[in-house]
Amino acid sequence: MVNDTLLDKTVTYQYMDLPVPSNKCLATYVWIDGTGEDVRGKTRTLDFVPTKPSDLPVWNYDGSSTYQSQGSNSDTYLIPVAIYKDPFIRGNNVLVLCETYKYNKEPTESNKRVRCAEAMEKAKGVHPWFGIEQEYTLLDMDLKPFGWPKQGFPGPQGPYYCGVGANKVYGRSIMEAHYRACLYAGINITGTNAEVLLSQWEYQVGPCEGISIGDELWMSRYILHRVAEDFGVVVSFDPKPVEGNWNGAGAHINFSTEAMRTQDGIFEIEKAIEKLSKHHKRHIQAYDPRGGKDNEKRLTGRNETSSIDTFSSGVANRGASVRIPRGVAEEGMGYFEDRRPSSNCDPYSVAEALVRTCILDE
Ligand code: ADP
Ligand code: MN
Ligand code: MN
Ligand code: MN
Repeated sequence: MVNDTLLDKTVTYQYMDLPVPSNKCLATYVWIDGTGEDVRGKTRTLDFVPTKPSDLPVWNYDGSSTYQSQGSNSDTYLIPVAIYKDPFIRGNNVLVLCETYKYNKEPTESNKRVRCAEAMEKAKGVHPWFGIEQEYTLLDMDLKPFGWPKQGFPGPQGPYYCGVGANKVYGRSIMEAHYRACLYAGINITGTNAEVLLSQWEYQVGPCEGISIGDELWMSRYILHRVAEDFGVVVSFDPKPVEGNWNGAGAHINFSTEAMRTQDGIFEIEKAIEKLSKHHKRHIQAYDPRGGKDNEKRLTGRNETSSIDTFSSGVANRGASVRIPRGVAEEGMGYFEDRRPSSNCDPYSVAEALVRTCILDE
């Protein structure tokens, strides 16, 4: 098996320590490919250290190799939109999140950021905050859940959620490394826990205001893939990685406006939930990359999910589409949680849908 993990990392570090000219900066441009869920990246040398996206040159790539164009007209543009410190090579080096545009300067089909940014601009007066709970499953190189028996299954769910002990959680090193790499990069990662399914984990990003929730979540996913690559482990955002009575993987989104966060904000929260109840289909369409197809397997009404066909809400109810956390109900203000987005959702589409329905009344 050819696998980068098999290369001796101590040999690699010998080269990583080489002194390089101090004015050089390696900028790794990261973008979402034509699948709408996978990320790609490539690196170039700059002769200066950028401090904001507009310092960075526009670049391009072969879109015919990322499901984003025909080979005969393949140059696809990368427009830098957010910049983070590079936790892999450190120093002055940067990770650059990019939007993608076609040869004719129109956004590519998987560039959902443009419309999201428009909605956020219109809604900025209410200061929308988002927090996403990103769940993911670790897989072995054969794409079976990481560490699971090759024949049969581990013991049933129960002991694994927030578990401790070598027989209760698998892959903690990856979670720890990813957490620190995100903090170093400048991503607002705010927590983590082992999940109900063995070898599944969650981390939370946010609250972030406006479009930055999408930028930070996408870059956190890139960093997760890169960290796991170093361990020879695969990261899956499949919303139902194991069929049957095993929990799927979601990306619960927590949402508030300034009015919801102030006294008696609970009434604003209830108004927003009332609006959401009238647009269930539109939200299901926006909440996974295949317009609801991926979530069909996950939103069954079992395993702590609601049914994909009906909208429901409730205080502390983890079987509802939308949950008001107990503490929020008690305080009479705060935020609500939409539990429907799948783990492989595009956060730009999800956040946009919430803002259009709850704030812009579109
Ligand atoms: P759960 O109980 O559903 O597992 P978590 O603790 O995992 O909840 O996640 C809570 C999420 O809510 C975090 O992502 C956090 O950033 C987010 N959050 C907290 N307060 C707000 C708020 N006022 N507006 C939006 N999101 C918020
Ligand atoms: Mn959570
Ligand atoms: Mn969870
Ligand atoms: Mn949650």
